[in-house]
Amino acid sequence: MGYEDVKFPKGSKFLVTGSAGFIGSNLVEAILKLGYQVRGLDDFSTGKKKNVEEFLDDPNYEFIEGDIRNFETCMEACNGVDYVLNQAAWGSVPRSIEMPQFYEEVNVKGTLNMMEAARQNGVKKFVYASSSSVYGDEPNLPKKEGREGNVLSPYSLTKKVNEEYGRLYSELYGLDTYGLRYFNVFGRRQNPDGAYAAVIPKFIKQLLDDEQPKINGDGKQSRDFTYIENVIEANLKACNASTEVAGEAYNIAYGGREFLIDIYAELSHALKKDIQPIFGPVRQGDIKHSNADITKARELLKYNPQWNFERGIVEALDWYKKNLG
Ligand code: NAD
Repeated sequence: MGYEDVKFPKGSKFLVTGSAGFIGSNLVEAILKLGYQVRGLDDFSTGKKKNVEEFLDDPNYEFIEGDIRNFETCMEACNGVDYVLNQAAWGSVPRSIEMPQFYEEVNVKGTLNMMEAARQNGVKKFVYASSSSVYGDEPNLPKKEGREGNVLSPYSLTKKVNEEYGRLYSELYGLDTYGLRYFNVFGRRQNPDGAYAAVIPKFIKQLLDDEQPKINGDGKQSRDFTYIENVIEANLKACNASTEVAGEAYNIAYGGREFLIDIYAELSHALKKDIQPIFGPVRQGDIKHSNADITKARELLKYNPQWNFERGIVEALDWYKKNLG
């Protein structure tokens, strides 16, 4: 069971912010396939026009180009909407260390604008992207909600503040908010380019281009890599969750644990490449291991992820081979 059987009232309308990005564009695609209406909002600051253009022929899709830092734009985007899936933000831990004020503007103020606009427009559910990085320096595995440490970067702090606003908006104003702590998401349309790209698409692209990928540290760091289909399921199930479980944040992962060096070997094997990686220094703000306990989302959101790493990476590789090759 994935999300194909999640039902909403006929004619339901979703707003996806960050719809030109990796996760946002996949949410748009999935919701259109289910037959509901979707409005996208994005300023193309890190997203791509082609991730929007792909869907514009669908009569159930409309797009607003705009910035969540502008409250009027947020009000316009939330007008007539039942469910908000707020994905717009700037990602990357190292980039946030270089520009903390900008991250505060976009990720904190922008998300607050969206929550306030959702409240004023009577939106039913406000589901927003948080991050596993809120666990900060808490060393215990698996990561469990309620056992967070000190955050290690401005990016993580913005997500922590989002969660506090989420809790307050539920308690003070009765807006049903659900924070989804994504753990290293991967899959189709994730951007492989640039210094801040996520590791899986970056390795794939570099191997396809016969370049020598760089591994930060010894490669023995582990992550709970989560396939995009599981993230779509979590968003849709959160939209269907009860008010009693609003105001909370939930781990969204598969619950597995992959080591970077093994992923590198697996991708090299699948792409038939024999290239030695370059090992560089450990990145500031990075943690060594991450793995999620997903019991809370399973029990309260009825999240039941169907895509383990092995299944996801086969589909992701296939997509990258077709689209980058
Ligand atoms: P992405 O960069 O592909 O998408 C983010 C989108 O938001 C982009 O299209 C960008 O143009 C848009 N955006 C940025 N600032 C904006 C603004 N001011 N106004 C309007 N649009 C704006 O990133 P993603 O990987 O799809 O991430 C989506 C969300 O999930 C983010 O909130 C991110 O922090 C969170 N997240 C992602 C991961 C992951 O592994 N990908 C992990 C944890 C959390």
